[in-house]
Amino acid sequence: MTLPSIGPAAEQWDAAVAAVRALGGAAEIQLICHVSPDGDALGSMLGFGLGLRRLGHTRVRATFPGEFRVPTPYADLPGMDLLVPEHEAFDEPDLVLVFDVASESRLGGLAARVAAAPVSVVLDHHASNTGFGTIRLVDPRAAATSVLAEQLIARLGVPLDAEIAECFYVALATDTGSFKFDATTVAVHELAARLIATGLRPGDISRRIFDTRPFGAMKLAGEVLGRAVLEPAAAGGLGLVWTYATLADLDRHEQPPYVLDTLIDPVRSVAEADVTVLVKQVAEGEWAVSLRSKGAVDVSRLAISQGGGGHRLAAGFTGFGEPSDVVDTVRRLLDDYRN
Ligand code: AMP
Ligand code: MN
Ligand code: MN
Repeated sequence: MTLPSIGPAAEQWDAAVAAVRALGGAAEIQLICHVSPDGDALGSMLGFGLGLRRLGHTRVRATFPGEFRVPTPYADLPGMDLLVPEHEAFDEPDLVLVFDVASESRLGGLAARVAAAPVSVVLDHHASNTGFGTIRLVDPRAAATSVLAEQLIARLGVPLDAEIAECFYVALATDTGSFKFDATTVAVHELAARLIATGLRPGDISRRIFDTRPFGAMKLAGEVLGRAVLEPAAAGGLGLVWTYATLADLDRHEQPPYVLDTLIDPVRSVAEADVTVLVKQVAEGEWAVSLRSKGAVDVSRLAISQGGGGHRLAAGFTGFGEPSDVVDTVRRLLDDYRN
């Protein structure tokens, strides 16, 4: 039986390999991931950067737009020494590679650098990817961007080692919700097995990434969860649950914003609701909106309609006004984006 070919076209893979092979060891290579980076953004980028180093490339830098703050759980990822703040990125790199970025808006001030680069390779897995970049390794069926990054370093002939594998494993575990989500296929487990075989200790990694938070983060979570609202009639009776967190909440508990990233998980486990909304303040009147669905709503399309993006069942956008304004907007759109 011939399996249908999936993933990026062979020409795109060949072009990406050729773009790297065309460069000498002293070429300037800039790696970029999305604003407010998560485990997949950082893990796929740094793992690939380490792979370039193994190939003899000495001038590799990794960065992301905006405030230069790495969430504590990722601070010890291998390859962290590749990471520089946005203003230290190469001005005119010979090659740019972009990781886990659905749209140029997620590149902030670095979007122009990508557009100006002679070659830009985009590795991504968002259904909402807008199609920027000159070489495109984009596969919405990939569980994480690290799936694509691992394939590219394999095609470049770099063997997996424990450092590269740890980066890719963190990325894969993050985006599959610790191997729970629908995208957790046989191929995902096979990749995880190859990564673990380099000597990783999954228990240690999971504890560090997912199960270690400051006491204040737990108290903050208690408050944010305590104010959640359940609307059983929303989404045509399938239910909506939502809550919000302000900058004042973070200040009161002396916590950095990353501690809110995983708070959507206890909220989305509410049995009475298909759709979950977590509204996180980023500035006065400006909110990072996280959307989840259990299947009734295509939240990616809903988010795109608001200038954001994501996956069918997990997406986000930037909202304005008060949290209730943001939720009003989402509630109003639910029926338009029913699956
Ligand atoms: P989050 O709710 O932050 O965990 O994000 C869920 C998914 O939506 C991730 O794949 C994000 O990359 C994507 N996403 C979140 N916010 C935005 C945004 N403002 N624009 C585009 N994609 C987003
Ligand atoms: Mn991401
Ligand atoms: Mn991702």
